[in-house]
Amino acid sequence: MRAAVLDAPLARLRLDELPDPEPARGQVLLRVLACGICRTDLHIVDGDVPAGHFPLVLGHQVVAERTDTGERVGVPWLGWTDGTCRHCRGGRENLCDAARFTGRDVDGGYAEMMVADERFCLPLPDTFGALAAAPLLCAGLIGHRALRLAGDPGRVGIYGFGAAAHIVCQVAVYEGRDVFAFTRPGDAEGQAFAKSVGAVWAGGSDEQPPEELDAALIFAPVGALVPVALRAVGKGGAVVCGGIHMSAIPSLPYELLWGERVVRSVANQTRADGRELLALAPRVPIRTHVSAYPLERAQDALDDLRDGRLHGSAVIAVAPGESAPL
Ligand SMILES: [Zn+2]
Ligand SMILES: [Zn+2]
Repeated sequence: MRAAVLDAPLARLRLDELPDPEPARGQVLLRVLACGICRTDLHIVDGDVPAGHFPLVLGHQVVAERTDTGERVGVPWLGWTDGTCRHCRGGRENLCDAARFTGRDVDGGYAEMMVADERFCLPLPDTFGALAAAPLLCAGLIGHRALRLAGDPGRVGIYGFGAAAHIVCQVAVYEGRDVFAFTRPGDAEGQAFAKSVGAVWAGGSDEQPPEELDAALIFAPVGALVPVALRAVGKGGAVVCGGIHMSAIPSLPYELLWGERVVRSVANQTRADGRELLALAPRVPIRTHVSAYPLERAQDALDDLRDGRLHGSAVIAVAPGESAPL
């Protein structure tokens, strides 16, 4: 099989021919159709999130076909849990101490074939093509979990309007919430994109929203946005950080937190989150905005994400016939 391989931290991806992976007990062998690119992939390349092994195949938003049944499945970031630690037993398998993650501990979807634990594969809605479904599997899931952890906000701010934001914005609007989108100051194109997917207001992260927010979700990996978001959120409101890695949060005056404001992170996702969002997606219906790249251009896709050249999600179209964005 062909695979885009990461040999070491900070290396460029290298296209290689590898033997097809062998499924272990409980795993299924999958033919990859498409794989979404995630900012976490950049954090793994940079060493901010440690890789499980090298050489490593990245990719944890995988739409694939089972080689045994032909069924189409989604393979998300959460690839395996022990099922026995106190987090697993408490219904928070996303926090499992021994969890293994797709595209970090288990080789992922920047490849033509992969293996995955059958119990962690998610059913996909039939109405979504492979390219359109891929960004739901991490960007969508993290956005969804972040919104759920924000309580039940009528007015929700979103800082960093990329892949996760453009999906959760549509869900929030479907649920009757007003979305206020914050982009890099001066990013008129990003602000227009946010409005095109339902935001009632869009501006720079240096601006105050026209109304006080009930909650804010931060998807940009920028800790300095935490006090900024707290300032925009009213009493009792939550600021939810969706990234796996963030620059340091600057010190802040206690009055920004006073009034029972909450700052929290979102870590990974549960299988229940996956089933919930994938059932909701066709009802909204969520329209993902996708830029497709062939496998041999996986590095270009990472570069475009890093340099902020994308609106929506980058997806690697792995299988022939998956090249047209849907
Ligand atoms: Zn566990
Ligand atoms: Zn991800």
